Formats: sequence, C-alpha cells, structure tokens
Amino acid sequence: MAKILWVALCPIAWSQDLTTDQIEAFGPRYLQFFLDHGSALGLAFYDFLPPVRTCLEPSCNAKKGTVNEGDPYARELAEALTVPVTVFTREFGPIPGLSTSFYCRQCQTHYYPNYWVSKKSSTRTYYLQPLKFIHTAQHIFIEGRIFELFTAMMLNSW
Ligand SMILES: [Zn+2]
Repeated sequence: MAKILWVALCPIAWSQDLTTDQIEAFGPRYLQFFLDHGSALGLAFYDFLPPVRTCLEPSCNAKKGTVNEGDPYARELAEALTVPVTVFTREFGPIPGLSTSFYCRQCQTHYYPNYWVSKKSSTRTYYLQPLKFIHTAQHIFIEGRIFELFTAMMLNSW
C-alpha cells in the first residue's frame, strides 16, 4: 500500500520547493500519524542516513587488476542496517526515529549519519557538514537546538 501511494504521490512531493522551516511546520500536523501508524509501516518522523553512498577512504577507491590500475572510482557502500532510535527534539520532546548505517566490504568501514569509523584506525571521523542532530549514543539523537537552548539557559541563569 505504501509503495502504491508513493508512486502516486512522489511526483507531487518532489516538485515541492519547500524550505526547511516549511517542512518543520508540518510536524505539529502530522507527527501523531507517524506515532500512531509509522512504526508498523517502518516509517519514522525522523529518519537518519549517512550523507554518502560511496566509501570515503582514499586507499579503498583505487581500481586494482584493471588496465587503468590505480584510477580512482567510487566504491558503493552496502549492508544497510536500520535501527530504532530515540530523537530528542526541542519542539516535540523525545520521539521515535530510525537510523541507517552502511558498510564498505572492502575496507570494513562503517558509515553512520554523523560520522564514519574506519576499522584500520578505529577512529571516528565526522562529516564536514554542520549537524542538525547529534548522534550522542548508539540509539540516541539530540537536536542541536536543544544544546543551544541549554547554553542560553545557563548563560541567562546567572
Ligand atoms: Zn572502503
């Protein structure tokens, strides 16, 4: 059913040119639908994905055994794993969400919505883009506006 609806509605959804503020304004209207029916359908109000679909490790992206050995190319990530998470928001409080991670089979690097972890160095490297939601624990995301609120409250409480 969801696939049929998506086929019918996706041309309309993708043709909308909405700002982030306009999209967030839908929250109070539609959040209850996600809470009531979303988890049974595998849908969440917040669905976090890594911003990349190919491996970022430079050593992983060189072709081997080909005519142009050493040429860079994009190695596709695989093994998507989606887990339930709790999302702490300023507007709605804690609500359920979903987080998906990917895996590079070649270099065994895991890619999460905020960062990636290389097996070689065992280091967590954050993407360069600003984060709206901080992945603070395995199943916890906190909206950046909550940290701003806490900071403002601490500054103004003196
Ligand atoms: Zn890789």
